Amino acid sequence: MEPMWIYHHPDAFSHFTGPGHPERPERLAPLIETLEARARAGEWEIVAPGEASLGDLTLLHAEPYIGEVRRTAGGGLSHLHTADCPVSPGTWRAALLAAGAAVEAAAAVMEGKTACALSVLRPPGHHARRERAMGFCFFNGAALAAQALLARHGLKRVAVLDWDAHHGNGTQEFFYATDRVHYASLHGHPSVTWPGTGHARDRGTGVGEGYTLNVPMEPGVDDAEYQRRFVETVLPALEAASPEFLIVSCGFDAHRDDPLVPNLALGDATFRFLFRETAAWARRVCGGRMAAILEGGYDPAVVERLGTAQAEAMAEGIG
Ligand SMILES: [Zn+2]
Repeated sequence: MEPMWIYHHPDAFSHFTGPGHPERPERLAPLIETLEARARAGEWEIVAPGEASLGDLTLLHAEPYIGEVRRTAGGGLSHLHTADCPVSPGTWRAALLAAGAAVEAAAAVMEGKTACALSVLRPPGHHARRERAMGFCFFNGAALAAQALLARHGLKRVAVLDWDAHHGNGTQEFFYATDRVHYASLHGHPSVTWPGTGHARDRGTGVGEGYTLNVPMEPGVDDAEYQRRFVETVLPALEAASPEFLIVSCGFDAHRDDPLVPNLALGDATFRFLFRETAAWARRVCGGRMAAILEGGYDPAVVERLGTAQAEAMAEGIG
């Protein structure tokens, strides 16, 4: 088997968010250095994505909004819609590359170019809505990848698993009324965690009822309880939907050293557990077809450690 593909592009570092913003280029720098060193040792391959096309983006985003992102970023240092979505001249290309990498990662797995793929770019995507930037996100890469699998690769059903500490409100919204994408999220409880969505009672609507699973975590949930709910609630629910492909919205901000979400304080062991269990689940349920897309994670050392462990767990599965 060919080595696993990891998507990255140096222009991901050209999206500047200004002083004090947690979603800054430096958050990824140590991880990329480590991944590149180990790619040179032959453990995996680093692949440069192309930019998402208009056809990719309009799978889910409104065309006027796409133009708005381009124009706003082209205007220099500013922000789009909310103060937590700053833009700079490099933002447009970085956002296109991040979205393009997510779509390409899923396509590469479907086309048999790699057994599974990990995308490590920025900005993240899971808060981005059809025509709205939100929570550091402009285009929803994970959701676009899932939609492309349905529209272009003939899949009947795709699972999106999101363990970022924040609820992926954008992804949930895109697929709330369909039974073709099963979205499952573990996140800080909406009563205390931004963006305040992701209640357990929100389970989808119409034919989509039962195809959204929210598992909000009470403040201070311990590692054992988080792991228990992951294996006893989340994985069986996703398996029951019989997905043919797994997209992971992979965030590291529920870690105890992450500065953003103090009410979730998981240790490394829980993340390694998620990585292992998920890779094994994907092998069993959907023939190992899996693409993981980086979302949040704001402590550079944590991102380096966990991002590398995620790559190892995925590469091991195909070794
Ligand atoms: Zn997050």
